Amino acid sequence: GGAQAPLLQADGVSIQFGGLKALTDFSLTIRQGDLLGLIGPNGAGKSTAFNVLTGVYQPTRGDVHVGGQRVNGLKPHQINHLGLARTFQNIRLFRALTALDNVKVACRAQGALHPHVLGVGAKMKNALGNYRDWWRALLLTPGFQAEERELTRQAEHLLEVMGLSHRRDEEARNLPYGEQRRLEIARALGTKPKVLLLDEPAAGMNTREKADLMVLIRKLRDDFQLGVLVIEHDMKLVMGICEHITVLDHGETIARGAPAQVRSDRKVIEAYLGD
Ligand code: ADP
Ligand code: MG
Repeated sequence: GGAQAPLLQADGVSIQFGGLKALTDFSLTIRQGDLLGLIGPNGAGKSTAFNVLTGVYQPTRGDVHVGGQRVNGLKPHQINHLGLARTFQNIRLFRALTALDNVKVACRAQGALHPHVLGVGAKMKNALGNYRDWWRALLLTPGFQAEERELTRQAEHLLEVMGLSHRRDEEARNLPYGEQRRLEIARALGTKPKVLLLDEPAAGMNTREKADLMVLIRKLRDDFQLGVLVIEHDMKLVMGICEHITVLDHGETIARGAPAQVRSDRKVIEAYLGD
């Protein structure tokens, strides 16, 4: 793929679990600046679509490309390195780590630890011949400390962006639910993605928190120059911010287009009435 390749492209992706067709012939293109919605009743296949796009599941058919590169068969962390980050419908944080450390882990996973620093540490390890001394020497290496400071600075910035600075040193498990959801987004941003997939980011929030989050998501799209795909069960919420919406029902794409178009689609209305 060349410079014009979409950030993310799914072509005719299908997956079955036993006899259940969880996702059938799913196609989607995300470019920088896109803010797309993925909606549908419970069990429609929305989270499954994310799991296939991010390498958690392998599609039975179809292709996924990230930045022009085919990613079928790659592991989730490899796809993450190519610029795709996601949050989970069921929050997955390091519950006993602080908010700051949750984000730092993500920043570090993106290779912030410079090879030069590791090289210096390895030389010292040979000289010292003992792992504990090696680790101590690594901590004392100026480059390592600079690296740690940089990781901390990046993580603090992301906490600030997500309105979580006041929670910096609190364990993730002690944060109110809505803040845990925002911390998950901070952590996803820590991997420096080009595309961000958010699985029901507003679930469990009150009306005010939901509205604020939608505004924030649009700001993230602009400030981090992302392409964003949001799963949201609440049709009204997602229609408020997304320019383009894909509607799933029983794994099938039953409608796609601008919010006004999708809202008045007969198949969409029927799918939601039966929900
Ligand atoms: P949604 O996120 O739209 O609510 P899901 O993608 O979670 O729906 O689920 C779609 C369908 O696939 C559901 O019927 C669900 O039970 C099924 N499903 C999802 N993951 C698995 C799995 N790992 N094994 C078996 N069935 C699954
Ligand atoms: Mg889901």
